[in-house]
Amino acid sequence: MTLFLYNTLTRKKEPFMPIDASNVRMYVCGPTVYDRAHLGNARSVVVYDVLYRLLRQVYGAEHVTYVRNITDVDDKINTAAIARGITIRQLTEEVTDWFHDDMSALGVLEANNNKPNGLMIEPKATDHITQMVKMIERLINNDKAYAADGHVLFSVKSMPNYGVLSGRIQEDLNAGARIKVESYKRDPNDFVLWKSADAEDDPSSVFDSPWGKGRPGWHIECSAMSTHYLGQDFDIHGGGSDLMFPHHENEIAQSCGAYPGSGFAHMWVHNGFLTVNGEKMSKSLGNFITVRDLLDKGIQGEVIRYALLKTKYNEPLDWNDKLLSDAKKELDTFYRRIKKDGGKEGMQKESDALILKALGEDLNVPSLLSVLHANTGGTLKYMGKILGILQQEPDEWFKGNSTAALGADNDANAVLLTNSSIELLILDRNEAKKAKDWKKADYIRNNLKSHGIILEDRPDGTTDWRRI
Ligand code: AMP
Ligand code: ZN
Repeated sequence: MTLFLYNTLTRKKEPFMPIDASNVRMYVCGPTVYDRAHLGNARSVVVYDVLYRLLRQVYGAEHVTYVRNITDVDDKINTAAIARGITIRQLTEEVTDWFHDDMSALGVLEANNNKPNGLMIEPKATDHITQMVKMIERLINNDKAYAADGHVLFSVKSMPNYGVLSGRIQEDLNAGARIKVESYKRDPNDFVLWKSADAEDDPSSVFDSPWGKGRPGWHIECSAMSTHYLGQDFDIHGGGSDLMFPHHENEIAQSCGAYPGSGFAHMWVHNGFLTVNGEKMSKSLGNFITVRDLLDKGIQGEVIRYALLKTKYNEPLDWNDKLLSDAKKELDTFYRRIKKDGGKEGMQKESDALILKALGEDLNVPSLLSVLHANTGGTLKYMGKILGILQQEPDEWFKGNSTAALGADNDANAVLLTNSSIELLILDRNEAKKAKDWKKADYIRNNLKSHGIILEDRPDGTTDWRRI
């Protein structure tokens, strides 16, 4: 079965032909760890998590290597550390832990280094300065870069096919380069590979190099780490559409400049941008939503994941509250079906064919979700696995000690009811019903409802419950 993916490089949907089917290789630009992951970051991580799961299903888990980096050296990090009065290392370690917690709440597969269970690597930029310095040296030797006053710059004019991915050359790349270098450039389009350190720089962001103390430019880390872990040619490079220019364009220039004749990434996949109520997320607009904000309101990670996946990965996604409530309703429907059908196994072969038919067409998750809507509980759990959903026990889903009904925005009088106190109230109500004390029975039902607990009386006399 051939997968098809939209390749930004050719602007066409193409059959995916791995260079080596026994080691399919994907690199994705990961987070810059200076603050909590927002919903746009999460969209990117969740989308490539599904692509990784699909590649593992098609080629075998032990035949896929996935690298998603952590950018832990960057101007934004320096600024945030100074603002909080902590060292850069303290900040990046703390934010990396937050990232892991939040992504794990979204059901994202964790990095692991143990083949044969598949290989997912999460390299940090600061652990790969040596590889970056070596690549910069190669670029200088190949006449693609030049040193000037402790900085090293990439010479854009030295690469005739610069612009091949984005189809454009901007007048000035400074805006995207993340580090200001003004007067050393031979050409305004040249971008920084190495930036000399300032005397007042935090020592944890200063590294030795043949050009003196300094730190790498942003783009070089992805070229150096992808080559280190995946080789000069690999299959898929992913990231958000915001990174196409200049970041990915510059990665191509660096990697092809350092290794002439190599193709670098054969397919470029870009996830669409996430906006909130039609606007770009930004702290100043007050519409900046982090994954943690939602989790702290008691919204289950699986609901957020589902809401992020409902729009096709390469279309823009405009976030609003209704997306979450729809996601919750749809997941409730699926879990109700799973509960009804018990542990019945669906037809695995048929399910695999349906999964590949939908996801093999440019990772069409919405199409797979419509297949799920047409299926019974037995198959839902099996099919949900590739999307990273529907893996909980239905009781855990409906009754989980979630504070969803009692989130920060709710009635201040609301108190969190534990599962056992709910069960006790139900017993109380059953006693009241037996004694025909309908007033008390109704009172308990209504009281629980006001706390977001719905009771369902069964024909056999028992009462089930769920949180809304
Ligand atoms: P950053 O931490 O800004 O370097 O971004 C980490 C990843 O999230 C990159 O792949 C970005 O392209 C992606 N990303 C950032 N903002 C958004 C957004 N609003 N929508 C979709 N993807 C985004
Ligand atoms: Zn990158």
